[in-house]
Amino acid sequence: MRTLRTLAELRAALSGPRHAGQVIGLVPTMGAFHDGHLSLMRRAREECDEVVVSLFVNPTQFEDPTDLAAYRRDEHHDAVLAAAVGVDHLFAPAHEQVYPTGFATSVSVGGMSERLEGAHRGARHFDGVSTVVTKLLNMVAPQVAYFGQKDVQQTIVIKRLVRDLDLPVRIEVCPTVREPDGLAMSSRNARLFPAERTRAASLHRALLAVQAAVAAGACDPAAARTGGLEELTRAGVTPEYLELVAADTLTPVERIEGHVLAVLAATVGTTRLIDNEMIHVRPSAHAVANHQRREALTCSARC
Ligand code: AMP
Repeated sequence: MRTLRTLAELRAALSGPRHAGQVIGLVPTMGAFHDGHLSLMRRAREECDEVVVSLFVNPTQFEDPTDLAAYRRDEHHDAVLAAAVGVDHLFAPAHEQVYPTGFATSVSVGGMSERLEGAHRGARHFDGVSTVVTKLLNMVAPQVAYFGQKDVQQTIVIKRLVRDLDLPVRIEVCPTVREPDGLAMSSRNARLFPAERTRAASLHRALLAVQAAVAAGACDPAAARTGGLEELTRAGVTPEYLELVAADTLTPVERIEGHVLAVLAATVGTTRLIDNEMIHVRPSAHAVANHQRREALTCSARC
């Protein structure tokens, strides 16, 4: 595996494979690798000829300077892990390579960037993510890029910008990798003290409680959330949000039907954690009948 520092080095390294028609896969990361990151790299390794992993702690997506300063950095260890799963190129650019002096452009995906994480971390968070991901996609020009379901809002924002800007890349979303007690792996988990680490497992239990309530027939979001909120309260965790939202737009649902996401954020001690679970509910016979009736009316109006 080669570590590349500049755009010129990156383009030179990828020019041969690109001209030979090989499939280039990109896994964008901020380092501090754990099994979640490695699962994305393994998937890219299985599906692509050349695997590029970018490692760049992007300052523009951090609203809080202390959060940025506390971000774990260990490039040497990351390089060992990436090489072990067969990554070809670690692209670890310096700040000036990504944001040269005079950099003045920002990519902003309207609407969905302001909700949930955007509302709590600051609206500029997703502008920072969108801008750096657009840059990385242009720098590497992969055919496929891999992201984790754990950061579900990020995947939705990125899919939208790829579609809106006609970027020639396929976005693949990989499942969340979890610790044995269900806690979603995150580089932030290392900051949890042992007692906090135990309490942090309540986040996933809360999501499972919401899923279970829906499986038992709850279709009202408030009713479905109750068990999840109880699970968090028992663990002494106050959520910033626990919401049921439409899986494509992230807007709150009035009734749980079709593809719905249960999304959750909470700070445990001083560490902010997020998680989500997808909930699939087949539309009720009533909703199907209504839909068919509407279709029939539209058809008879047209015919
Ligand atoms: P980060 O380094 O935190 O920016 O994450 C890089 C990529 O790894 C993002 O696409 C994340 O969604 C993904 N990722 C982080 N944690 C996990 C996890 N537990 N399971 C799967 N993917 C993850």
